[in-house]
Amino acid sequence: MSVFPEGFKEHLSPLHHLNFEEFSQAHATMAPVSVRLHPLKGKNLFNELPKVPWSDLGRYLPSRPDFTLDPKFHAGAYYVQEAASMSLEAILQQVVDAEDKPCILDLCAAPGGKSTLIASFLNGRGTLLANEVIKSRAGILKENIDRWGYANVLVSNNDPKQFSRLKARFDVIVVDAPCSGSGMFRKDPAAMNHWSEEAVEHCALRQERILNDVWPALKPDGVMIYSTCSYSLQEDEDIIERLINEHKAELITIEKLHIQNSIIKTELGYRFYPHLSESEGLFISVLRKTDGDLENFHPASKSYQLQNEIASFIAQPSSFAQHKNHLGENIISVDLLNHIFAFEKHLHLLKTGILSGELKGKKFIPDHELAMFVALNPEINVIDLNLEMALRYLKKEAIPNTYNTEGINLIRFEGLALGWGNALPNRVNNSLPKSWRIRKEISLD
Ligand code: SAM
Repeated sequence: MSVFPEGFKEHLSPLHHLNFEEFSQAHATMAPVSVRLHPLKGKNLFNELPKVPWSDLGRYLPSRPDFTLDPKFHAGAYYVQEAASMSLEAILQQVVDAEDKPCILDLCAAPGGKSTLIASFLNGRGTLLANEVIKSRAGILKENIDRWGYANVLVSNNDPKQFSRLKARFDVIVVDAPCSGSGMFRKDPAAMNHWSEEAVEHCALRQERILNDVWPALKPDGVMIYSTCSYSLQEDEDIIERLINEHKAELITIEKLHIQNSIIKTELGYRFYPHLSESEGLFISVLRKTDGDLENFHPASKSYQLQNEIASFIAQPSSFAQHKNHLGENIISVDLLNHIFAFEKHLHLLKTGILSGELKGKKFIPDHELAMFVALNPEINVIDLNLEMALRYLKKEAIPNTYNTEGINLIRFEGLALGWGNALPNRVNNSLPKSWRIRKEISLD
């Protein structure tokens, strides 16, 4: 049986619904492995595997494979995500209609689990801004969002305070707050070394500050989704109670999460425990803002059609606009046009839709982000690699040209795009960004 940090059992004693004996025993068992499929790239994968009860796209794997060795993982066909976190899907399905083109902020987004889930739910409609305050973590967030391949998603690197400048802008804000991490004790026992009552108090103060900072950015009638992977009342129900008392907000109940003997519904949210559901620990709660004033936004007055070189790569170019900024030439969804100028004015943006590429002389060199885009033209030249060659490509090796093709080609594995290659007479030069390459040694002979 697992040895919890000193004082942890007593700390949880106010949770009268918790059978500590069973909870403790579950910590001696293996954490389940789950993945969430990309709705377009991964829709034919893992069909035979058991579904996560609260997520249409979630699947349980029988064991943990080495995901690095699966090119489909690199292509963004699925995201490895703890099952309880996938409950966000059931929440969005109930409280948001993607056809209304909602503007959604994921405030604490790295490494991108909830953001890729939201992007899947929107599936190109509305706008998602995925933000991460810690610069070193914003890079991995961008990489995961790049892999997901949608033109209505942006990545920013800002402190929650800076969102008060975007008053009443968002229909939904997700705050998956930094927390003391007790919900991860089974999966990551090292997290126990950092746990203490002081850490819980420190996290609770920070969570309250984050929510107060971002509250003005939520529209009246907008939805706040708050979660932590901590079991502590101080970081969960107490935070929600204060939010309701200090701001005007009402709790929303989520029908799909009413699963008896699996998810605990408390007065102020939903709790996942490893001894009750096939998941790690999570608290999640959904509130509707009931006060504040609507702001009038002026939708973009001008939109630019895609240039011919870029349009030739896209399946339905008229559904997208071209937008130039400090990052380069971007392909953005038409819905994103309504918000991009405000975001550019107030935030530090690392990604705005899909970076298309550059004209070098007369030649257009597509960016890696474009290879990951879900709306590529099926007519572009492709090279389909077998597993060995796909792994060599992902290690950034040059590939012998045995494919009877020349020039820029989309490199694929089982129909899924991995990146670009430039085919010369005897080899295919590898355009995979260095930072994306597989670094670990793998035997390919
Ligand atoms: N939502 C992410 C996902 O599903 O992959 C996980 C988010 S993790 C629980 C919390 C995030 O909050 C971390 O990426 C952390 O860097 C960030 N964070 C830390 N301090 C913060 C602060 N003061 N304000 C906002 N975010 C913070």
